[in-house]
Amino acid sequence: MRRGYILAVLSSAALFVALTTRLSADSYPSFDGTRAYQHVRHLVEIGPRPPASDGILRAQTYIVGQLKSFGCPVEEHDFHASTELGDLAMKNIIVKLAGTSSGIVLYTTHYDTVRIPNFVGADDGGSGTGTMLELARLFCARKNLLNVWIVFFDGEEAQGNWTDAASVRWNNDSSNNTFGSREMAAQMALSGELKRVKAMILADMIGPPNAKITRDTNSTPWLTDFIWATAAQLGYQTTFVDRNYPVTGDDHFSFIRRGVAGCDLIDFSVPYWHTTQDTLDKIDPKSLAIVGQVLAETLPGLEKKFH
Ligand SMILES: [Zn+2]
Repeated sequence: MRRGYILAVLSSAALFVALTTRLSADSYPSFDGTRAYQHVRHLVEIGPRPPASDGILRAQTYIVGQLKSFGCPVEEHDFHASTELGDLAMKNIIVKLAGTSSGIVLYTTHYDTVRIPNFVGADDGGSGTGTMLELARLFCARKNLLNVWIVFFDGEEAQGNWTDAASVRWNNDSSNNTFGSREMAAQMALSGELKRVKAMILADMIGPPNAKITRDTNSTPWLTDFIWATAAQLGYQTTFVDRNYPVTGDDHFSFIRRGVAGCDLIDFSVPYWHTTQDTLDKIDPKSLAIVGQVLAETLPGLEKKFH
């Protein structure tokens, strides 16, 4: 009787340990491509979302509202960009999740769309935003070791005529794009936080069916290798292909040129880039799911590396 009681206590204790172990390891939800896709659909339904437009204000309301509904702490960083089109009000939206060590990992995207009439940016502006929103749902429910910041940049697209390739390449102060990421990198340099950033991962145009994400030769090699190895472990070599493609202008350069490891995930082979054909039918929830799962899996890997 007594023995049975002890066994019962022991086995329920074991069960409790098993459950709590399970909770701490797996309690956070897995990446849902359908949820990411629904976010893209909502954004596309808003219509064009260039900086300082009615559309982008509605997108901001949507993004902030969704993040709050996941229980994420949300910061809105307002700033003004001086552009060829005049002074434009812009806003970076940032979720900052505290870890137990000082290192910071940035998961980023841009949520503005290029200033072309009737351009709704399902892939360019939508796919990365939908993916980061779903990733936020996961990470905000997780106990993170590193500080995890999820960032939605405004003003990635050029305002006015595209500036020369050399300045675009390095996002220097004369370039007329990547305003949000340059603003954030500059602020983090001033505050000293930039030194704590271990990795900056950018998702931009990752939504087409059978997406082929190529290695950006201007991204940081170890970080690219690390993400591609994570994808290979999950069996996604046909999406994260072993082929090089040099990206010449995107938000990661704002950090790379300040010495931070950065990597851009992008399928730049699509025929509809910066045309009104960048519509919802170009997005496959499966591609969002693959990229999202890889992103989710990079975090424990980075924590192992840097904690
Ligand atoms: Zn674009």
